[in-house]
Amino acid sequence: MNAGTHAPRIVVLAGGVGGSKFVLGVREAARRRWPDADGGTRAEITVIANTGDDLWLSGLRLQPDVDSMIYALAGVNDAERGWGRAGESERVAAELHAWGSGWPWFTLGDLDLGAHVARTGWLHDGLSVTQVVARLASRWPLGIRLLPMTDAEVDTHVETEQGRMHFQEWWTRHRASLPARGFDSPGIAQAAPAPGVLESLAAADVIIFAPSNPVVSLGPILAVPGIDDAVRAAGGVVVGVSPIIAGAPVRGMADACLAAVGIEATAAAVGRHYGARDHGGLLDAWLIAEEDAALAPEIEAAGVRAEVRPLWMRDLETSAALADAALDAAS
Ligand code: GDP
Ligand code: CA
Repeated sequence: MNAGTHAPRIVVLAGGVGGSKFVLGVREAARRRWPDADGGTRAEITVIANTGDDLWLSGLRLQPDVDSMIYALAGVNDAERGWGRAGESERVAAELHAWGSGWPWFTLGDLDLGAHVARTGWLHDGLSVTQVVARLASRWPLGIRLLPMTDAEVDTHVETEQGRMHFQEWWTRHRASLPARGFDSPGIAQAAPAPGVLESLAAADVIIFAPSNPVVSLGPILAVPGIDDAVRAAGGVVVGVSPIIAGAPVRGMADACLAAVGIEATAAAVGRHYGARDHGGLLDAWLIAEEDAALAPEIEAAGVRAEVRPLWMRDLETSAALADAALDAAS
């Protein structure tokens, strides 16, 4: 990447839990590469978050991926459980269940509910989603700029043999076990990128696809009209990180999403799905795991530079090493 005279500009497209682990690494890698006087970084890191997971529940607006990102970067997330706030309690959820409100299989923690009430109140006051996300993100010094992909409501739905349902119902209640025929986000074709999204992509030295779910995390972001074209047209280098290692999602059920849209759960198939920028696709380079080194020729045949690196994010150190590898791939 060639930052020239300005501070390096990094844009990351990300979902929730996997995306936030990676962004923690990006922030750390940027601190080491481009330190500033205050222990932070000179680099400008913009994260474009998936809002396809968003939903209305008990009259409240939830944004699971946005909140996962904020909690992780603030260090208030429950790292053991993998989602939500640390030190969470569930008193309000028990009351909601007693009232028969919401989904009994979708527990809202008390601390988490604070965020949902605040968000819903601001939306009710007339703030845009971008403004609401900026307010939520301003509570802690996150060290990044967090943008929703769009201000429009474009909640992802799933077609299954048992009917159509919100993505969260399929994912959380059914653990992605109902065969899915496909995903769609009503309204997305008319949605516009949130303010700042296209500008940040155009100005980026490097655009990184976090190792997030390609179908239901990065898929919705890239489906907002204008975002994929902005990636194609970007002057910076576009680097993707495979969420699939040795034919399996590292954690979670991304393989069920890939199967539903006919993409094989391999690092090569996901890389080909994004495609090479040289051939009308989105990627310049694709990071694959050492376990998948044999797939490199298949990826390069599709026109994408394959880089074999350790892709496991076990802690801050390994996440930072992975982010560093992505930044290296952009140089
Ligand atoms: P979600 O929105 O909370 O489901 O999270 P994301 O979509 O951002 O990320 C989920 C994806 O992260 C999973 O499908 C995994 O494939 C991927 N993932 C999780 N941990 C790791 C890891 O250590 N390394 C890599 N390469 N991918 C990971
Ligand atoms: Ca998600």
